[in-house]
Amino acid sequence: MICANMLQVEIITIGDELLIGQVLDTNSAWMAQELNKSGFDVRYKTTVGDVEEDILDAFGRAFSRASVILVTGGIGPTKDDITKKALVQFFKTTLIFDNATLETIKEVVHGNHKILNGLTRNQAYVPAGSTVIQNKAGTAPVTWFEKEGKILVSMPGVPYEMKWAMTNEILPRLQMFFRKRGFIRHQTFWVKDYSESMLAIHLETFENELPASVKLAYLPASGLIRLRLTGKDSDETGLNETMGLQTGKLKALLSGSILSEEDDNPENILDRILKEKGLTLSLAESCTGGKLASLFTAIPGCSRYFKGGVVSYSNDAKRQILGVRLSDIKKYGAVSLAVVEQMVLGARRIFNSDCAIAISGIAGPDGGTEKNPVGTVWIAVSCKKRLIARKFLFSNSRENNILRSCNNGIRMLLDVID
Ligand code: AMP
Ligand code: MG
Repeated sequence: MICANMLQVEIITIGDELLIGQVLDTNSAWMAQELNKSGFDVRYKTTVGDVEEDILDAFGRAFSRASVILVTGGIGPTKDDITKKALVQFFKTTLIFDNATLETIKEVVHGNHKILNGLTRNQAYVPAGSTVIQNKAGTAPVTWFEKEGKILVSMPGVPYEMKWAMTNEILPRLQMFFRKRGFIRHQTFWVKDYSESMLAIHLETFENELPASVKLAYLPASGLIRLRLTGKDSDETGLNETMGLQTGKLKALLSGSILSEEDDNPENILDRILKEKGLTLSLAESCTGGKLASLFTAIPGCSRYFKGGVVSYSNDAKRQILGVRLSDIKKYGAVSLAVVEQMVLGARRIFNSDCAIAISGIAGPDGGTEKNPVGTVWIAVSCKKRLIARKFLFSNSRENNILRSCNNGIRMLLDVID
């Protein structure tokens, strides 16, 4: 058994595609979340390319500073994947043919209605001295190494396969191996009404008085702030008490400004509230082009409240579908108070919904005027008898303007739901 204070985890993700930004490293984010939930402290994340020397260097560093090293990527059957070679070199071992692995590979290949070829068969060569964990989700075996009381696990890079291995094999085994691993608790709040600096000023005394075991982190997200309290301790009861006390203090300081106590996205917060209150939603989107609708429809069960949306990009669509008066479009412009108010009421009317969000703006990079520069967005929200509209001036970035429009639309609707 390894003592708790040594328990530091390093995640190493391998692949040239990660270094050139062709593929986003989602593996390490997912793994870190899961490891945290199980009380493992992720201290380092390293990404290296498919270069043997660099992989060996990363393994060496990780061994010098972490007790658990979790590696993904580079164990495919093709020549560009060289992690297995590096593992053999690092652990000074050789490859041996493993019949049990071949059987698993055959099951996976036949299950996918494919024929086993030579390259795939070669995946049954595994480093001698490692414990092979059969991969039921793919053909690259997971290998588990123990050396000097430390553990290194090599997993496939394919996110689906890595998740399968972590959930079904690696996390349970790590939990068994490191029974005394200490505890980690996170409590996240979504906070409105503050900029990051204003919030930090408001919480200055609270933050200065925090015990050493608890940290506060500010994560701004398009007009809202995710505030996270993290506590780490080897004593679970003590940690729960400390977190309870600090969470209570924080809630008292932020009372009306806390949107949610779950680490959700804004659309998930609205999703939960609409389901709880039994209210229905419709959308009228211009510059966000259906992005809001796609955020909601990505959530399972949204059909309970989401009635539909209109992507009314053109003036004709605003007029013909939503009933916006052409005279108002001509007089005030498509990005105006008069137009978003009519859009939100039009959406509620045609979809017969309790609530609606309407957005009309200039996402950019072109299309700005002196009166309405790029980043100008009008948003109207309505719920039952309430309707509010607001003008925003975001940024020059199209992507950012679309995202902030969505977040602020959701946030405004949360303000009018009672
Ligand atoms: P590999 O195991 O290196 O052959 O990787 C197989 C595939 O998994 C790659 O083509 C990537 O699309 C994906 N992949 C590899 N590493 C990661 C990672 N860290 N995060 C997300 N996807 C990854
Ligand atoms: Mg690769």
